[in-house]
Amino acid sequence: MSGNNEGIIVILSSPSGAGKTTLVKEISRSKNFQISISHTTRKPRSIETNGKDYYFVSDYEFKKLINEDKFLEYAKVFHHYYGSSKDVVFKKLNNGENVIFDIDWQGTQQIKRQKLNYKIFTIFILPPSRDELYNRLLNRDRNDEKIAKERMTQFNEDVLHWKDYDFVVINDDLGNCCKKIIKFIESSDIKKDLNYQKLISLHVENLLN
Ligand code: ADP
Ligand code: 5GP
Repeated sequence: MSGNNEGIIVILSSPSGAGKTTLVKEISRSKNFQISISHTTRKPRSIETNGKDYYFVSDYEFKKLINEDKFLEYAKVFHHYYGSSKDVVFKKLNNGENVIFDIDWQGTQQIKRQKLNYKIFTIFILPPSRDELYNRLLNRDRNDEKIAKERMTQFNEDVLHWKDYDFVVINDDLGNCCKKIIKFIESSDIKKDLNYQKLISLHVENLLN
């Protein structure tokens, strides 16, 4: 896909709960992408496994990794640190494997700024509506209203970053959304469609009202 022997980088970002983790897993299954497993200082959710969903580490361990320059990017999100491991990612890319990231807009900016010699596709995921987003957050976090509400408070700010991404997609039906992302990666021509851009712009306005 990259036109040479190196792999490509695909980054998915979104306001929390829009579905990027689910999409990343789906895309990696259907297109054989390698998922970049992040380190985080957040506590695991009940269904998460160390080394599969994240490497769950202490604040001390995370700061040690920062000092040892082990991260390609890292950021503080919702009071916790999250970071992508540099060595693992470069090894895979240089091996010809495509790597897919589920990271926030801060991490995306950091990776873009480095002007790496790999092809990068950045994709922003939007929820179909605020109500649906809240329900997804509530379901995922075992009906913990406090967590769902805290994540919703960040929504208005996070959603504005859609403009910095190569492609924006609404995650209504999971299968459809996945297909659109794969089509974009394979052809990378959807952003040029001005009508599509207008539609996304209108959708974001509705989400903010
Ligand atoms: P994010 O990584 O963006 O925070 P997740 O992938 O964890 O979001 O998804 C949040 C919740 O929404 C999860 O419980 C997931 O199963 C669910 N979900 C994701 N995509 C869809 C979809 N298209 N339709 C319905 N539920 C979805
Ligand atoms: P969650 O706690 O829901 O798994 O993730 C919270 C946020 O942190 C999401 O926006 C997710 O994309 C982001 N995130 C996860 N891993 C990383 C990472 O390695 N770097 C950055 N910058 N953000 C991350």
